[in-house]
Amino acid sequence: MYYAKPLARLVGELEKLPGIGPKSAQRLAFYLLRVPPEEARLLADAIMKVKEQIHSCSVCYNFTDQETCEICSSPRRDRSLLCVVADPRDLIALERTNEYRGLYHVLGGVISPLEGIGPDQLRVRELLQRLERDEVKEVILATNPQVEGEATARYIQRLLKPLGTRVTQIAFGLPMGGDLDYADPATLIQALGGRRVME
Ligand code: ZN
Repeated sequence: MYYAKPLARLVGELEKLPGIGPKSAQRLAFYLLRVPPEEARLLADAIMKVKEQIHSCSVCYNFTDQETCEICSSPRRDRSLLCVVADPRDLIALERTNEYRGLYHVLGGVISPLEGIGPDQLRVRELLQRLERDEVKEVILATNPQVEGEATARYIQRLLKPLGTRVTQIAFGLPMGGDLDYADPATLIQALGGRRVME
């Protein structure tokens, strides 16, 4: 062991984070070793507060520290529009455009037979319940333009067809395999504006 035990433990914990290899973990650990204790406490406290206070919105499954998230409870949002995304990160990407004024529904992933994720593992049933309950005029499918995202959009479109609700899909100017999460606001505004009715 090259590290003193507490330091080895910190390096070990940091290494578990996505995108952090042994070298980066070491760099971060040595950085934290040098910061004032108060700063390290702020980081530790921020992590713990997120774990204690953040959960899914009871309506749309976005992350929130309230019972329902700020988007769902805002009187300024257009309740006739419902945008379906796979992940809360996609919702944030769309919010950054400042263009979309409707509501969201977060599926919690995409259909992926290889990973054993079917519609039952996603919030598809909850989506149907919302459509029965709420006054939604258009469902906008905004899953990533990847094989699984496309398959998920198709699945939902077929499922919603009997309901007669207008179902559109965002038009991606991105190459197949692009990520909503990484798209710049201008591309997303175009994608939303160019959405097409799914047949
Ligand atoms: Zn919500």
